[in-house]
Amino acid sequence: MEQRALSIKFELVKCIQCKKCTRNCPSAKHGGIIPNETVLAVREGNYTGDPWTCLMCHRCSMVCPEGIEVAGLVMALRNNEVEAGNVPERFGRVYGNFRKVGDTMSIADSTDDERNAFGLPKICREPGVPEKLEKMSGRRIQ
Ligand code: SF4
Ligand code: SF4
Repeated sequence: MEQRALSIKFELVKCIQCKKCTRNCPSAKHGGIIPNETVLAVREGNYTGDPWTCLMCHRCSMVCPEGIEVAGLVMALRNNEVEAGNVPERFGRVYGNFRKVGDTMSIADSTDDERNAFGLPKICREPGVPEKLEKMSGRRIQ
């Protein structure tokens, strides 16, 4: 969705640049996304930032005095990146694991050995999960 449409959808005109979102953002504290600047840039139609540094904790949305769904906006910006084929390798890796074993965690065979030592059963690997999801949603999962 283009930036102007996002600005309308998320009512970014309501932003008063109080920076409460940024003061409460764990990512901004460590050099990541700066939510109030993201909102402003999208509103002005010149956003070129990196939405992947967001942790999706939704704090920004919770503290915004104007009720702006800042995290939802960041998610929409990510969707734009995905549509443009710009997915960071680390996310591709997580999704690759999901395709392989039906889990987003990278589980090595040695994990089973460690679990066995504690008398725990093997981790369930379910490679059929993506296929089941496709059937449920009627959409092909790439
Ligand atoms: S908390 Fe809300 S109003 Fe304040 S800067 Fe962030 S988005 Fe704008
Ligand atoms: S959802 Fe993202 S932008 Fe919002 S506070 Fe959390 S890390 Fe920051």
